[in-house]
Amino acid sequence: MTLPPVPPTDLNLPQRTLLGPGPSNVHPRVLRAMSLPCIGHLDPAFLEVMNGTIDLLRYVFQTENRLVMPVSGTGSAGMEAALVNFIEPGDTVIVGVSGLFGERMADIVGRAGGRLVRVDAPWGEPLDPDEVATALAAHPGAKALTVVHAETSTGVLQPLEPLARLAREHGCLFIVDTVTSLAGVPVKVDEWGLDVVYSGTQKCLSCPPGLAPLTAGERAVEVLKARKTKVQSWYLDLPMLVSYWGTERFYHHTAPVNMVFALYEALRLIAEEGLEARFARHRVNGEALLAGVRAMGLEPFAREGYRVPMLLSVKVPDGVNDLEVRKDLLGRANVEIGGGLGPTKGRIWRIGLLGHSAQRENVLLVLAALEAALGRQGFKAGPGAGLAAAEAVYRAEMATAPPAGASGPKAGGR
Ligand SMILES: *Cc1c(COP(=O)(O)O)cnc(C)c1O
Repeated sequence: MTLPPVPPTDLNLPQRTLLGPGPSNVHPRVLRAMSLPCIGHLDPAFLEVMNGTIDLLRYVFQTENRLVMPVSGTGSAGMEAALVNFIEPGDTVIVGVSGLFGERMADIVGRAGGRLVRVDAPWGEPLDPDEVATALAAHPGAKALTVVHAETSTGVLQPLEPLARLAREHGCLFIVDTVTSLAGVPVKVDEWGLDVVYSGTQKCLSCPPGLAPLTAGERAVEVLKARKTKVQSWYLDLPMLVSYWGTERFYHHTAPVNMVFALYEALRLIAEEGLEARFARHRVNGEALLAGVRAMGLEPFAREGYRVPMLLSVKVPDGVNDLEVRKDLLGRANVEIGGGLGPTKGRIWRIGLLGHSAQRENVLLVLAALEAALGRQGFKAGPGAGLAAAEAVYRAEMATAPPAGASGPKAGGR
């Protein structure tokens, strides 16, 4: 056998500003935590990090739930865990579908043997609670209702409280995807009555991808205990995972130790900033970006009043090539934004200001770079209009609430 040539250079990657739908930029303190020496997944020092991570996750989820843990795997592993543990073959599950991630939930429900009942909304619109109520009334034995809080494929924020009330009235579990919303907008697990909630690390938590924080309340735990069949996934079997993340510390699989360090540090950054300040930072920067793109003559895609503040979906103007603009941004400004998916492919851009990426300088950077890229496509956005509109939002914000956090924790600080 011949030895393969050793690649001559180190990984030599560009420094990107990540302003797409995830991953988001990672704070240097999180990267430093990841580079700490690996220790054993049952080392007493690691067990302390696990406990600290769980406590901080309770803060971010705004819950007193006992069952809180990061599932090993990306957001989709959280989705799969949240579904396969609570659904048994033959169970009826009502799935709200208004974009790609709702479709993914519907797919998993079917694979888990659930009887799928869809409630659809067009891409760009939220679900209609009346239609959900109708579906619940037509299927009185439904085991669960599932929805996506922030539908990343469309930029729509789904109000959760009315749906949580409906699920409660009909005695079914409410299972919610907060992959993009958690730590960007309020997710009040206990106050709103959300039964099973999962997220992912690379959106507003601003870690690299790799873990899926998950929590389940007592009603959900009762459903888990009453299962008649084994959970068909060995890896995502929550009772077994609880025996590792809980007090028993039984080995199940080797936790991704350094990824847990990263999440711990990312959560510490969130606690230092405070959830309210963090939400305000996402809101202000999102408003500035929206004002900026509007002033440039672009139109938002998601329905007004239901927009995710930190993930702007915007229509690609007629005559402009989506891919050329994104290539231009990446090639000239090292800025990544997202394109559309499925029915919106080539029709929208998705500009994310998630977690550590939600900074005033990033808003100004993407507006300037977008104006230039659009100009090269023959689309004339009034010169400087986007920047001026964004600056006006920051000035108005400073006038009403001086330290409202237009910028987040700084790189290199502390
Ligand atoms: C990103 C995302 C997921 C999937 O997460 P992965 O980390 O890509 O597996 C699921 N749901 C929503 C709403 C997302 O934005």
